[in-house]
Amino acid sequence: MKEDNFFMKKAIAEARKSRLFPKVGALVVKNEKIFCRSHRENFGIKSVHAEEMILLFNRNLSDTSLYMTLEPCIYRNDGEKSCTDLIIDSGIKKVIIGFKDLNLKNSGKGITKLKEAGVSVSIVSNGMEKELLELLGAGYIQKHG
Ligand SMILES: [Zn+2]
Repeated sequence: MKEDNFFMKKAIAEARKSRLFPKVGALVVKNEKIFCRSHRENFGIKSVHAEEMILLFNRNLSDTSLYMTLEPCIYRNDGEKSCTDLIIDSGIKKVIIGFKDLNLKNSGKGITKLKEAGVSVSIVSNGMEKELLELLGAGYIQKHG
């Protein structure tokens, strides 16, 4: 859908604010408007994922769509709840992802788990592949690509 491309471009712009790779942006759309947005950020001892930041502060998002430049994580090294589980708990029913994660520990698993929980998932990257790839960073692509 045309609007999916529009909001994915906004999520890419948000991701560019991240100071660490992979850069990730997320935004929630409600009634066809951006409700909130976030990017992956490093708070010293803790790295907070883009969608995690949104989901920590917004509990009931059942009537919204979530746009993310990268597939949500299925597990966390730091033992925190995965973003996939946070999305399921939030009640979000529609998720639009830019890229499937390249990290094989995660790749495709977040998408599968969301679908199993009844969340509609689509990948929207048409014409934005270059920008989405740049967000991952050369080091991440080399390690996982
Ligand atoms: Zn995550």
